[in-house]
Amino acid sequence: MFENYRKKSYDLLIYEALLRQLKGDLWFNEKIIAGYKKEKAGYDGESAVDYTISTFRSNDFVILRGLRLKNPPFYFQIDTLILTKKFICILEIKNYKGIFSYDSKQHQLTQKVNGRINSYKDPILQAEAQKNHLKTWLVHRGFFNIPIETLVVVAYPSTIVENIHQDASVYNKIIHTASLQLQIERLNNLYSKDSLTMPAVQEIGRQLQQADEPLRTNILQQLGLAEHHFIDGVLCTKCNKFPMKRLYKKWLCSECKNTDTKAHEQVIYDYFLIHGDTITNRQCQHILKIKSPRTPHTLLTGMELRQSGNNRTRKYHAPPSQGYPQKSYIPANRLMRIQQENPN
Ligand SMILES: [Zn+2]
Repeated sequence: MFENYRKKSYDLLIYEALLRQLKGDLWFNEKIIAGYKKEKAGYDGESAVDYTISTFRSNDFVILRGLRLKNPPFYFQIDTLILTKKFICILEIKNYKGIFSYDSKQHQLTQKVNGRINSYKDPILQAEAQKNHLKTWLVHRGFFNIPIETLVVVAYPSTIVENIHQDASVYNKIIHTASLQLQIERLNNLYSKDSLTMPAVQEIGRQLQQADEPLRTNILQQLGLAEHHFIDGVLCTKCNKFPMKRLYKKWLCSECKNTDTKAHEQVIYDYFLIHGDTITNRQCQHILKIKSPRTPHTLLTGMELRQSGNNRTRKYHAPPSQGYPQKSYIPANRLMRIQQENPN
C-alpha cells in the first residue's frame, strides 16, 4: 500500500505559530482562537479516519490524504482519496459533533443547537462536486473512464445523522468511520473488472501528489499584526517562561536549567510561517538574539534549508508544507486557557 501521511494545513501551522509567538495576551484573540479551533477540529476528524484506514490490510490501494488540486480557474480539495484498480473513492470527512438531520429532498443538513437551527451545505453534493472536478482533472491527463465513487465519512462515532426521508441511497453515502471498510468492500463488489493496472494506479497517485498545491492564506494581514507584537528570542522549551541563552552549542534556560540543542528550530519555522518565505543570517541573528554573527549560518545550515545567494546576500528558504514539524506544541498554559475559556 503506497500512501502519504496527513500534513497540517498552512492555516493550522500558522495559528499554532501565533499561539506560540505572540507576546503577553495578544494571542488570546477571538479570531485566532476561533480559527485555530476550526482548523484543529478538521485536522483531528481527518486524523481519526486516517487511523481507521491504517488498519486496512491491502496492497492494492494507494491512499492520498489532503490534496488541493487545480482545475483552472478553480481549485478543489479532497480530504482523502483511495485509489484501487477498479475505482477511485473520494472521502469527504466531516468532524460533525451532535445530532444532525439530513434532508435528501431539500439537499440540506441541519442541526438544532440550543433552540437555534444551523444549516450546512449538503455534504453529498459537496462530494459530487469534487468528483466532477477530479474527473476533469484525470481526463486532462489522459485517464479516461475510471469510475469515481464518493463517501461522506462522519469522523466521530457519537455523532448522529438522521436520514429524515429514510432514503435508501443515503445510507451508502453518509457513513460512519466504523463502516468504511465494509463500504469499500461493497464498492469493490460492484465492479466485476479492473479499470486500471496497479502500475497505472501508482502513476495516477504519483501525479496527484505532485500536483498538490496546499493553500496559503495571509492570516497576518487579516489580523493587523506587526513585528513588535511578537516574543523576542528563544523561549524555554520546558517552562515557556524565560528566554534561553546560547552557550556552547546549546540553549540554556537560566531559570529552570533546561538545555536544548534544537530550541531555535521551531522559532525559525515560526518566522517563516508568520513573516515570510526567506530568512537572512542577520534576520536570524536578530530573532534568536545571538551575539555571534557566525552562529546563524551554522544553525540555518544545520536545518538543511534550501539556500540562494552568497555571503551577505545569502537567503535561506522555507520548507514546503510537509517540511514543517507536524508535532509542534502550544505552551500548556495557553492551550489550557483556549480549552477552558472563550475570548470576547
Ligand atoms: Zn525554562
